[in-house]
Amino acid sequence: MRSSLRLFVFAFAVVASSVIAVSPSSMCLGQTPPGPGVGYTNTPQLPNSLWRVHDKYRPRPAVVKPGESLGQPPADATVLFDGVDVADLSKWKKQGTKDETAPWKLGEGYFEEVGGSGSLETRESFGDMQLHIEWSAPEKVEGESQGRGNSGVIIMGRYEIQVLDSYNNDTYADGQAASIYGQFPPQVNVTNPPGQWNAYDIIFEVPRFDGDKLVKPARATVLHNGVLVQNAKELIGQMAHQDISPYRPHPPKGPIVLQDHGNPTRFRNVWVRPLREEIDPWVVMPGATAEGLPGKGKKIVLVSGDDEYRSEESLPMFAKILSEQHGFDCVVLFAINPETQSVDPNYQSNIPGLHHLDDADAMIMCTRFRFLPDWQMQHFDKFVKAGKPFISLRTSTHPFNFPGDSKSSFKHWAFNSKDWPGGFGQQIIGETWHSHHGNHNSQATRGVIPEKAQGSPILKGVKDVFGPSDVYGVVHLPATANVLMLGQVVDGMKPTDPPLAGPKNEPMMPLAWTKEYQMPDGETGKLFCTTMGAAVDFLNEDLRRLVVNATYWSVGLEDKIPEKASVTLTEKYKPSYFGFKDANFFKSQRIRPVDLIP
Ligand code: MG
Repeated sequence: MRSSLRLFVFAFAVVASSVIAVSPSSMCLGQTPPGPGVGYTNTPQLPNSLWRVHDKYRPRPAVVKPGESLGQPPADATVLFDGVDVADLSKWKKQGTKDETAPWKLGEGYFEEVGGSGSLETRESFGDMQLHIEWSAPEKVEGESQGRGNSGVIIMGRYEIQVLDSYNNDTYADGQAASIYGQFPPQVNVTNPPGQWNAYDIIFEVPRFDGDKLVKPARATVLHNGVLVQNAKELIGQMAHQDISPYRPHPPKGPIVLQDHGNPTRFRNVWVRPLREEIDPWVVMPGATAEGLPGKGKKIVLVSGDDEYRSEESLPMFAKILSEQHGFDCVVLFAINPETQSVDPNYQSNIPGLHHLDDADAMIMCTRFRFLPDWQMQHFDKFVKAGKPFISLRTSTHPFNFPGDSKSSFKHWAFNSKDWPGGFGQQIIGETWHSHHGNHNSQATRGVIPEKAQGSPILKGVKDVFGPSDVYGVVHLPATANVLMLGQVVDGMKPTDPPLAGPKNEPMMPLAWTKEYQMPDGETGKLFCTTMGAAVDFLNEDLRRLVVNATYWSVGLEDKIPEKASVTLTEKYKPSYFGFKDANFFKSQRIRPVDLIP
């Protein structure tokens, strides 16, 4: 219901009058992440790591329900055949065909190779994996050596863990059961007699290629009937008979193949799960140490976490510019889904690393409708009560929201709060969510500098500001705010398009301002806000410069703002266009914060 409501509201907002507020209907009500809980903040730093020994803030591993008994699939496994829930061969097809039904025979709780019918391959592709598979060689012993009970688990269709009746059956060592075929024999032969079940637990890391070049070979660990038989073996190349076959580049995921080698080998209880790697949930970017960089020794914390304007892409870009070109120490935080432990802006109740605000000199925030747990919110609270300076981009006029039944101590910070009218946005930044003043996605924004703002140090080298995101309605800004830029609604989406004629530009909305703020019982602080800030807006050089200049200003370095601050992008900055993503989009992407540094 939520997603259909969201679709409706979104579609409505696009076509309807732009003064109608969009409600925060895209909430992702996941479980609140646990923590920070038990741990230390004063222990030694682990080498090459974000973490201290016993680090209080180190994310706890995801909770996964194990199988009912040993060998049964845990909750995060993909079951490929269990004879109960997956009692057919629907997860498999005939190898090398687009969609041909798997031609093997189904039995009671197992399936059986049909000689000459072709090998099977999974319909789904897998990368680094843990694979459990049970097999039994034909009870009726026929043939010898490689002709007896031969099949194989061929990962990605290229790397074979041999299946063979190796019970009292001599063959070459690198071709017996649990060998990496043609390369490495198993450490021991623990094959059960024909007709009895064997279990393989295979941990396989796929090879890595950079273009045509192998950068990391495949690696396999195999337990046969619970006994270690291959210990992190690096494969020499692809599977081959009487030959050595070198690595050939292939995609990072591929099917699991079960070999048809002509014998009626049986299989059951097949499941696979991706290998999980600990993902660092934030990025630390120390300032460059070149002489004369003014940002030296100042710590800027950049807080992303909006599900529409791709701040998970723009803020790492700013951190790179601020650290490498201006010497600021930067930490970039992200919305992290505790289940995948990767970047997921649709997940609204977790931004790990906010304790970095405690010793930050300034913050750059671009969040939208977050409802973070109190133990995370308290760091925002402490920051603004201390009157520290910050920069608010785009959706940060409505950075927080809390469901009606929320028990949060910060519920009154919500964008639509009645208790503290307009919440954090209205009370601190000067405006909460009001409207799309320009039509969303069809009327772009041009920055116009008003006469009285000329000469502001924040506007040094800033002349030509343009971006495809629309002008926000800003109608509650207190008169004490210092408006640096007005938003001209453009009649189209191109920089060459003219201003929209008519009342929307008479007068123009504030687009960027500075103001003082004060929390109840807090110190006075200052902030800079611009309601521009889609990741694609920042392809505009002068808009990047505006934010970089504002960063200087925020930490008291306004007299050090260069005439034309360096804001050079790398070629890797190719921001995604704004818009909402499907609720599951980021779950499958498993984006690591470090991958987002352009
Ligand atoms: Mg084989």
